[in-house]
Order: sequence, then structure tokens, then C-alpha cells
Amino acid sequence: MASGGDDVETLRFLTPKDCVAVKEKFGTPTYVYDLARLQEQATKAKAFPNAFGLTVRYAMKASPNAAILKVFRKAGLHIDASSGYEVHRAVKAGFQYDQISLSTQEFPDFFPELVDKGLKVNACSLSQLEAYGIMFPGAKVGLRFNPGLGSGGTGKTNVGGPSSSFGIWHELLPEAKEIVERHGLIVDRIHTHIGSGSDPAVWQKTSGMSLDLCRQFPTVETLNLGGGYKVGRMSYEKSTDLQVVGSPVKELFQKFAEETGRELKLEIEPGTFLLANSCAVVCTVQDKVKTSDDADGHVFLKLDAGMTEVLRPSLYAAQHPLVTVSAAGELPKEHASYVVVGHCCESGDLMTPTPDDAEGIAERTMGAVDIGDLLVVEGAGAYCAGMSSKNYNSFPEAPEVMKGADGTMHLIRQKQTLEQILVNEVELPDAAC
Ligand SMILES: *Cc1c(COP(=O)(O)O)cnc(C)c1O
Repeated sequence: MASGGDDVETLRFLTPKDCVAVKEKFGTPTYVYDLARLQEQATKAKAFPNAFGLTVRYAMKASPNAAILKVFRKAGLHIDASSGYEVHRAVKAGFQYDQISLSTQEFPDFFPELVDKGLKVNACSLSQLEAYGIMFPGAKVGLRFNPGLGSGGTGKTNVGGPSSSFGIWHELLPEAKEIVERHGLIVDRIHTHIGSGSDPAVWQKTSGMSLDLCRQFPTVETLNLGGGYKVGRMSYEKSTDLQVVGSPVKELFQKFAEETGRELKLEIEPGTFLLANSCAVVCTVQDKVKTSDDADGHVFLKLDAGMTEVLRPSLYAAQHPLVTVSAAGELPKEHASYVVVGHCCESGDLMTPTPDDAEGIAERTMGAVDIGDLLVVEGAGAYCAGMSSKNYNSFPEAPEVMKGADGTMHLIRQKQTLEQILVNEVELPDAAC
């Protein structure tokens, strides 16, 4: 399996002293986002090669905090929402309905009012298309297709091909056309999104297949190619260069225009690309235990965080850089190998899974530390704060902080209180038990 060997990872945007300051001010664990990196990634996304215009939509499920939405709104990005609830959240953060595109697995019961206010919708299945047509005959609609090919960093993040339920299967095109015609719908957008962490070559190939779908609908004005741009979190992993994957796609759009006279606009929907390396979780090593001295034994670092903050290692065997810092704010000079685990009572709460096997434990080399020292989980911007196993073991939601341009640490979400965890519980009457 791909491995960087024993390369010790380094802090990305925090200094060792920053980590101590975060702990003193906000406690641990705390998510720290870096404003400069968020803005830098937004600038790169807006430079995506395009022939006839580009809209960049932030796939807000990657991290939906209002402060992050605000940074991207000010950077000129629009929104890709994955649920009706996300649409409400984006609107609360200042986006207009018509700046939001919804591609969802489930229409909420309040769906019609969102569409009335201008929300753009991609129908993601034939039954969604039928329901939309009944509600809004004659309206504009986007169609999300499964182009028959997928690619993701893991099976769980591959959302194209015959094993994926996302989008209208490309061979069901005649059925989709029939529904469109029957309700007088106007298909103005085609959408494909094949996975997170996609292979650039597969991504480019599906772009060509998506353009072919645009030929089938003369009313299409925009092609949305989704997100999925691969980002290396570990120092040995490669990131997709948007200029490299985008240039051939721009040429395909130009060729399409020469052939058809139609100048299609491009939309992309990055989540990971914008967020992945723009956040770190500062944790404390709250225990250190060892098992057998034999070859099968390990030294374990137990964090005051875990799958309640960063679920990706448990879910996908994702590799996140782990960097230790002494309690005094120094990088340790000695190195040691540890298995790093979270604070939940289950062995699946593991920060150092074997690559490709969430159940296999692997040792990682890092600066030698003891109880009370700090450990920083890097690469924790995308699908961490927004995708944790929240309140498992009744641990409260960790605070989120934004490191500003001048280094100021702005609190953007408070640590959850016990009262907030319990707020929706309703007491069972004594008489009932
Ligand atoms: C999740 C998602 C994205 C973003 O994917 P990333 O891998 O984070 O870039 C974009 N579009 C849709 C429809 C999605 O579901």
C-alpha cells in the first residue's frame, strides 16, 4: 500500500506556540481553520479553465459553519447543497436562493417553497424528476446523471458507476426524456459528480460523456461537473492540479461549441479542494498505555478527541497527518512510533488505521510525547466538523475557531454544553414505566 515510510509530518499553518495558545484559550479538542488558506483555495477554484463562463459552487456538506460560508460568499462562490436543510443554512448565511443548487437524495416536505424562492434543482432520480414535474410543470430543471463510470478515493466515496445509486443511470435517458416532455420541463443543466478523490483521468473521461448528454437536450445552457478533486493530506499524497485537469475539458467545451453553436457555461462543485488542508484539530494526549513488549504489542496515545471530531479514519481508513507538540509549545526532538486512538469506548475509534483497512491498526512515527502534550490532526477541514459521530459517548461538540489574516483566533462555534446535548429530550412519564 502507498506509504510515505517513516516521514514525520509537520504542522501546516499553526506554529507550535499557536497550538498551546489555542489550548489555553479554547481548550482541546478545537478545530482551527485558516482564513488565508480558504481564500487561496477559493482563488484557485475560480481560476478553473473554462471557455464560456464559470460558476464555482462550494459543496457545503464539507463543512457548513456560517463563518466558512461567509468567507466563500465574499470570495464570490455559490453553493451546492445536499439537502433542503443545507439550503436553509446557506440562506441564513447570506446566500440568495438562486445562488444555491440542490442535488439531494431526498426532497424535504418544504421543498416547494424553496423552489418558489428561486432554488436551482437537479433531479437525481426518475422519481424525483416525476415529482418535480408534477409540482412545477413547465419549469426549468437540471438532471443529475450517473454517467456509468465512477472514481473515488475509497468505495464509500465513489458515487458513479453501476454500484452507485447517485443520479439517473445514463441508459435511462429515454425514460428521463419522456418525463421531461410529459411535464413540459425545460432541462437547462446537466450535472455529474462521480466521487470524492477521483482519478483525474476518469474525471476527464466522464466530462466528455457529460457533454454528450448535453447534446441530447438542446435547452441545456450549463454543464455542472461536480467536485471530487483529489487532495493529498499526507505529505506523500498527490493533489489534483485544477489547471491540468481543466484544460482538456475547456477544449472539449470549445469543440462542442464549434459543432453545435452552443456555448455552454461550466459549473464545478469542490468541497474537499477548498477545505481539506485548511483546518487542523488541536488535541491533548490524555493517556498513554502500552501492551505486550513483544512484536505484536504497541504504545497507544489516547486523545481527548476521536471519531467524535474526525470520523474519516474509522469510516474510510483515511490517513491524516498527526503532529505532536510538547505542552511547552516545542516540537519534540526524539521520535517514537505510536498507535493513536480516540476517546470513544470502541476499538474502531482509531486515528492510525492501516491504509485501505479501517480495522487494521498501524503504528505511526512522530515526535515522542507524554500525557499532557498536544497532538494536532491535520487535513481536518473537509468532512470532519460536519461529519462527526456527534455526541457519541455524550462527548460535547468541539469548538471551531478561524485563524484570521493577522493571526487572531476568532471563535466561530462554541463548545457544546451538556444542556445543549439534552435540550430535545422529553421525559418519559413515571406512569409509563
Ligand atoms: C459531495 C459532493 C461534492 C463535493 O465533493 P468533494 O469530493 O468534496 O469535492 C460535489 N457535488 C456533489 C453533488 C456532492 O455530493
